[in-house]
Amino acid sequence: MCDDRLSRRDFVRTSASCAAHVGLMSVFPFARGRAAWSAQERFPVVSRAPWGRIERVANGIWALVSTPLEDRTTLCNGGIVAGRNGVVVVEAFGSNEGALWMAEEATRLVGRPPTHVVLTHYHGDHTGGLRGARATGAPAVLATGSTRDAIRATRDAPVEILDRVTVLDHIRPTEIDLGDRSLIVVPRRGHTASDVTIEVTDPAVVFCGDLVWNGMFPNYVDASPSRLSQAVRLLRAGSASTFVPGHGALAGPEDVDRYIDLLDDVEAAARRAMERGLTAEEAGAEYRLPAGMAQWVLFNPAYFERAIGAWMAEFRNP
Ligand SMILES: [Zn+2]
Repeated sequence: MCDDRLSRRDFVRTSASCAAHVGLMSVFPFARGRAAWSAQERFPVVSRAPWGRIERVANGIWALVSTPLEDRTTLCNGGIVAGRNGVVVVEAFGSNEGALWMAEEATRLVGRPPTHVVLTHYHGDHTGGLRGARATGAPAVLATGSTRDAIRATRDAPVEILDRVTVLDHIRPTEIDLGDRSLIVVPRRGHTASDVTIEVTDPAVVFCGDLVWNGMFPNYVDASPSRLSQAVRLLRAGSASTFVPGHGALAGPEDVDRYIDLLDDVEAAARRAMERGLTAEEAGAEYRLPAGMAQWVLFNPAYFERAIGAWMAEFRNP
């Protein structure tokens, strides 16, 4: 299902979205058809849909890997974490239909409806389905104040939900106690000014939001490039064995190392471009992915220029 009701007009509207220009991808050969990573399954698949698959990471922990180049219903990755006293869904996805589907899958897999929805950041492909996310079980919505306020500023914002958001501390981690298991929501920044990761131990799994991308080039539209690099290094330095990226296949430590190499390569390209007096547009046009990453795809051909431009802006105003 490719929901035309949520296609071009909504993507134009959510111009700050990570996938804001996903409607343009068909003109760009990198993004045509299936991405190579879309078939890279790391864990047993318990559910398949045209827009993605749910992998069972561990007992009570599932991850959705969306395949947005094929179908935009969910758009971003996310997850489900179940404990004795609650069921947490990570992200509210790109459409109400996608978020409702995820809530129904959570209910089916766990046997109980969601009690919490946690938003990693405000971009529309992670929050556009808030109404759908609350349609099953009326879960509490947790977000930072910055995330809530940024969603509120968008057209057709679900103010009735935003008015009742449980605001996460933006400095200290927040524990979500599910009885026999806890999740730690960790405030971070880099992809936006207010990101959070959702972290589980035993096994150590991190839902990274858009701080981490795997197989898809990251969107720097609202990024602070050096903070992004720092945040990713901090995540990698932890004990996690599984990283759920915001977009792309589930990642292990080796995938995050490769992603860090990519971030460093973009930084180096931006430095060279500054030295040569190039514009971001010129540097983006000549940028090529590092060796071994030819299979990576882009939501939008402007992403190279945007990433290099973000670094240039930071070099000028550190
Ligand atoms: Zn994002």
